[in-house]
Amino acid sequence: MILKKSVSVFGVTGSIGASTVDILKAHADKYSVEAVTAHRNVHALAKVARELGAKCAVIGDPTCFEDLRDALEGSNIEASAGENALIEAAERPSDIVIAAIVGAAGLKPTLAAIRRGARVGLANKETLVCAGPLMTAEVRKHNATLIPVDSEHSAIFQVLEEREEDRIDRILLTASGGPFREWPLADMRSVTRAQALAHPNWEMGAKISIDSATMMNKGLELIEAWHLFPVAEEQIEIVVHPQSVVHSMVEYSDGSVLAQLGSPDMRTPIAYALSWPDRIRVDAPRLDFATIGSLNFQSPDTERFPALRLARQALQEGGTLPTVLNGANEVAVAAFLKDQIGFLEIANTVEKMMSKIGSEKLTSLDQVFESDAMVRRETMDCLASV
Ligand code: NAD
Ligand code: MG
Repeated sequence: MILKKSVSVFGVTGSIGASTVDILKAHADKYSVEAVTAHRNVHALAKVARELGAKCAVIGDPTCFEDLRDALEGSNIEASAGENALIEAAERPSDIVIAAIVGAAGLKPTLAAIRRGARVGLANKETLVCAGPLMTAEVRKHNATLIPVDSEHSAIFQVLEEREEDRIDRILLTASGGPFREWPLADMRSVTRAQALAHPNWEMGAKISIDSATMMNKGLELIEAWHLFPVAEEQIEIVVHPQSVVHSMVEYSDGSVLAQLGSPDMRTPIAYALSWPDRIRVDAPRLDFATIGSLNFQSPDTERFPALRLARQALQEGGTLPTVLNGANEVAVAAFLKDQIGFLEIANTVEKMMSKIGSEKLTSLDQVFESDAMVRRETMDCLASV
């Protein structure tokens, strides 16, 4: 008999959540489910909790508690709600936690999982952007394991051999370039919500789809990569690769470049975070190289995509500046999704807030939470005043 690994999935109703559920169902002989969580979608949460036989289900919004309890009636699944319940769910003894909440809202539960030494499959890149040095220090202190789920970082993780760490020359982070890769700046002014949500290669949640369209996603990933891998900021290069087949590459000191390739299907990196150091079968579409024919690469355009420049600046200056970048971006993206600001205003707003608020030395997690809350208030005020 194989001993099953237990898994908790945070943000189970989202895009990464759904792909994780797909793998857990296909490999029910290998994984059992401890906790599943969602923000407000009670019915989707209750359904998936029943399907997976989870021990507990947590809804982030406390006003949804009774609905969740009703939806789980007749099952043995424990129901709870609210921010503290999310943290308690992360403290439950599961071997693996898939962190797939969107935004800085995922930070507290992810830290709780890290503090009990769990393996965390990290999709929620905003947490590393906001609190990277403190979060990786907690990982070391509690002997936790952080496995990247983001496809680019999973690619790097897969081709990076520990014994070769001091022989890395460059990390080449690939970017699809999003739906506006070839659009002139003048046309980008009038981009609609629907156009920005329509990613050419990946099906994802709304926030990361907009981040991909502004290329802030690659900016966040640059910061994420710096926290995850032992390289200097200037060793991480962004390369636009429209097909999203090469998920990223590592160049070593002898000139060898190792890449990980695959179809754009998040189940592959999620499965790796679950099964590492082993591999499990995933029925993702296989690459047909003769049909693909050619793969293209180009330099990113930081004029049309200033988010790339802003993220690099945040990484270089450090301190709380990445927290500011992230918080301002979350608020600006939410405003764009409500048609309150134009597409180019997203990066403009982030830039304004970065220069207005500036950076402080990063000393504690409480400071991250305060700084994140303050940036959100300031950004909302700034958007309300225009
Ligand atoms: P999504 O919007 O589809 O899902 C987000 C999930 O988080 C949902 O289950 C939602 O209920 C939950 N959630 C949202 N706000 C919450 C809150 N305040 N408190 C508690 N729960 C909350 O997002 P997604 O596309 O699945 O992305 C999730 C994370 O993974 C993001 O950080 C994203 O950048 C990262 N990521 C996603 C993809 C992808 O293909 N979708 C790829 C790489 C990385
Ligand atoms: Mg990615």
